[in-house]
Amino acid sequence: DLSKNTILYLEGLNVSFDGFKAINDLSLYIEPGELRCIIGPNGAGKTTMMDIITGKTRPDSGSAFFGRRIDLLQLSEAEIAQAGIGRKFQKPTVFEPLSVFENLELAMSGNKGVWSTFRARVGVEQRERIEACLEQIGLKDQAAQRAGDLSHGQKQWLEIGMLLMQEPRLLLVDEPVAGMTHQEMDRTAELLLSLEGKHSVVVVEHDMDFVRSIARTVTVLHQGSVLAEGSMDQVQGDARVKQVYLGE
Ligand code: ADP
Repeated sequence: DLSKNTILYLEGLNVSFDGFKAINDLSLYIEPGELRCIIGPNGAGKTTMMDIITGKTRPDSGSAFFGRRIDLLQLSEAEIAQAGIGRKFQKPTVFEPLSVFENLELAMSGNKGVWSTFRARVGVEQRERIEACLEQIGLKDQAAQRAGDLSHGQKQWLEIGMLLMQEPRLLLVDEPVAGMTHQEMDRTAELLLSLEGKHSVVVVEHDMDFVRSIARTVTVLHQGSVLAEGSMDQVQGDARVKQVYLGE
């Protein structure tokens, strides 16, 4: 039903790898400004779903729309990124020799090759955008620091900042708190919650305490389909979810 107000509309998706159904009649609807958490055991299809959204994997059947009109299945990976879908992978890929500020500057230019020429033209407006972003990701005091010297958590936040500089309408975040301290996890939850309303965010995460701390709608994937959806309490109380996670 495309009359729904969705930023992301996935319906009836199927993907097989050598006859194995990795995605099985999967439907998912994300509202604009929503922060959605996706959980599920290993092999549930989370990565494959993200790969379909970003055009890395093509489904055998089904629909995938971004906003009302953009048919993701007709676009290349580059076109999907340009249309406003940003993805943050688990491993940070910041430019270590550059400063935090320069990393954000580079991300804003959107084209790594033109950075040196672009740099001379960074005006007041761009500087203000970078400073607002530094504030948002909590790295104001680290602006001049070499990105390679940041802590693991700080690198993850910088990378989220780099994505934000590209002004995506939908942000896909893969396991943002893997390897983080509790303090860093709390800060990451705060950062993701601060995006709510302005950006639509889909977070894939294994850490249940973290997902609970975000406390938004949770979708549980299992065997390539949605097993349950609702609040953390609702899905954790679901008998089928308990069976999948605990073998009860
Ligand atoms: P998750 O991210 O939830 O752990 P995945 O999407 O990575 O799950 O994988 C779903 C299933 O599809 C798994 O059983 C995995 O082994 C299989 N799979 C994923 N990608 C491929 C591939 N390129 N070729 C074959 N099988 C794959």
